[in-house]
Amino acid sequence: MIIKKGVIIAGLDIKMRQVLITAERIYKEYGRKEGVTITSGLDGCHSAGSYHPYGYALDFRTHYFGQETQKEVAGMIRRYLKDIDPAYDVVLESDHLHCEYDIEKANSNKPKKFLDSWRKK
Ligand SMILES: [Zn+2]
Repeated sequence: MIIKKGVIIAGLDIKMRQVLITAERIYKEYGRKEGVTITSGLDGCHSAGSYHPYGYALDFRTHYFGQETQKEVAGMIRRYLKDIDPAYDVVLESDHLHCEYDIEKANSNKPKKFLDSWRKK
């Protein structure tokens, strides 16, 4: 695994551990001896609704793969992560691979015990 200079990964949520393990393994399977390269973590300027500042998103380098390989790698990582938890999202962008744990999606699946019990009163 390589962390690009200036990239901040301190503060990543534990949910991102599985993203790193999965991406590392698949990048190696696709011939990257050094494994995955992180190009963004909690650093950088992202969209207002981005999960990056909260430690729920990572970007990975893709430019050394051809277009078809990029799609394959993204698809493999997506399949592995979705199997673990459907709240993981993997999006192939034009110049990087974005992986996030959609904490709001994850929480919306949980029963709202407090609200439900309160409404019954
Ligand atoms: Zn991103």
